[in-house]
Amino acid sequence: MPTEHVDVLIVGAGLSGVGAAHHIQSAFPDRTYAILEARDALGGTWDLFRYPGVRSDSDMQTLGYRFRPWTQDKAIADGPSILDYIRDTAADAGIDRHIRYGHQVVSAAWSTEDSQWTVTVDHAGETAQLTTNFLYLCTGYYHYDGGHTPAFPGIEEFGGEVVHPQQWPADLDYAGKDVVVIGSGATAVTLVPAMTDQARHVTMLQRSPTYVAAQPGVDKLANRLRKLLGDRLGYTVTRWKNVFKTIAVYQLSRRRPAMVRSFLRKNAIRLLPPGYEVDKHFKPRYNPWDQRLCLSPDGDLFAAIRRGRASVATDEIVGFTRTGIRLRSGTELPADLVVTATGLRLLALGGIRFSVDGRPVQLPETMAYKGLMLSGLPNFVFTIGYTNASWTLKADLVSEYTVRLLRHLDDGGYDQVVPVQDGPGVEERPLLDFAAGYVQRSVHEFPRAGSRRPWQLGMSYANDVLLLRHGRIDDGTLRFSRTRKPATEPVSEPG
Ligand SMILES: Cc1cc2nc3c(=O)[nH]c(=O)nc-3n(C[C@H](O)[C@H](O)[C@H](O)COP(=O)(O)OP(=O)(O)OC[C@H]3O[C@@H](n4cnc5c(N)ncnc54)[C@H](O)[C@@H]3O)c2cc1C
Repeated sequence: MPTEHVDVLIVGAGLSGVGAAHHIQSAFPDRTYAILEARDALGGTWDLFRYPGVRSDSDMQTLGYRFRPWTQDKAIADGPSILDYIRDTAADAGIDRHIRYGHQVVSAAWSTEDSQWTVTVDHAGETAQLTTNFLYLCTGYYHYDGGHTPAFPGIEEFGGEVVHPQQWPADLDYAGKDVVVIGSGATAVTLVPAMTDQARHVTMLQRSPTYVAAQPGVDKLANRLRKLLGDRLGYTVTRWKNVFKTIAVYQLSRRRPAMVRSFLRKNAIRLLPPGYEVDKHFKPRYNPWDQRLCLSPDGDLFAAIRRGRASVATDEIVGFTRTGIRLRSGTELPADLVVTATGLRLLALGGIRFSVDGRPVQLPETMAYKGLMLSGLPNFVFTIGYTNASWTLKADLVSEYTVRLLRHLDDGGYDQVVPVQDGPGVEERPLLDFAAGYVQRSVHEFPRAGSRRPWQLGMSYANDVLLLRHGRIDDGTLRFSRTRKPATEPVSEPG
């Protein structure tokens, strides 16, 4: 069988992969492309996570694509609605016909001589290969086969059930049960109020507190703008409003942390019952936005605590017993069900092994160019979204940049482009600049970022719009070349 060739190969059919396909096929209707997806469904994160209440923790006007207005009333949307949005995007443009499910990319080998990648795929236990001129990774940032669960002493003695939110059993019945959710990140903050619908009581057990900000789930202004200006313009205006709001909150948190801390504390006091130990349970040791701020739509977590249906324990686990969890303070939390909302396991670039002209690539030895290409890897783009703003803001910009890059290759008659890091004085920085435990555990396995442009990690959407949508493509760091043979090569006549 001859190896199949596509012009552009996208890996991953999540929010980013479907968006990337939209950009590529709109800009280059005559180019061939395929999306390889390891799972049997599209949607990535929004198909995988099925725990009660699963939802976004950023607004859909920025988590939605730039090219497709979010038209529902809720700005903080539930997982199934987000999945529908991705599915509809794929179906409306015929993108779904380009997705090859059950295709796990295991390795990608670049050949300068052939000016193409050969991608090796595991498909139903068999190995297959494809070649492509341009490899576009949309593989997310974590392992799909399971989350992070610390080794808790005595967990095997526990008589109840232990569940990780990443592998939520569809038939899990928690009605009337005592539930303990271990963790204090976005997932725990989502799960705790959501599970109070059926559980007898839900306790959020955290080692240390996180900032939780209450925010309306419905953005009334966004909905008014949509009615007034129509879906598209209303969406665009709200998108920019929310971009600037996020930038303002982030910058204020960085420059005036005491002010933001005090605001969040006062808000929590207002929403919690009188006499509640706010500082014990909701006053983190770090400043706002050192780690991602957790969102509580309409203050649902605080409301569940007020109603007595949920509580927070800030303590350390000593070990599990048959009937619950023993804590450092001496208390024992009774539990029928324990949910380990203890995080993800990060995975760099879909776990794919790369090589260039036969030499294996060590990802930590590469440096990310503009947060979307890697030094030394030709014809290659990857997608990792912002940690301080919605993922899709960056994903859309990566796509727009990729389209510009491909046009530049065409216009110059080039067939190869590679970022070269040979300038002096670039210090290494982590690619994910975030203090959260799950990031710190694995960030050393990722490519590096640099201390100055174009290697610096862009964390501002406004700056990235200038850099990626409008900045020069041929900036001296990207090296363009052509290896293509002339189309009219003389054909040797047989004897
Ligand atoms: C529970 C949860 C809630 C979140 N909420 C928000 C939020 O509110 N706002 C926000 O900005 N971000 C949020 N995030 C981050 C979120 O992951 C991104 O918003 C976004 O969904 C990422 O989309 P993606 O397509 O880039 O990656 P993913 O959704 O992770 O999709 C990647 C796809 O690539 C496939 N894949 C990976 N490796 C390979 C391979 N080697 N071969 C073939 N296929 C492969 C996977 O199977 C998957 O389908 C959340 C994350 C989680 C886990």
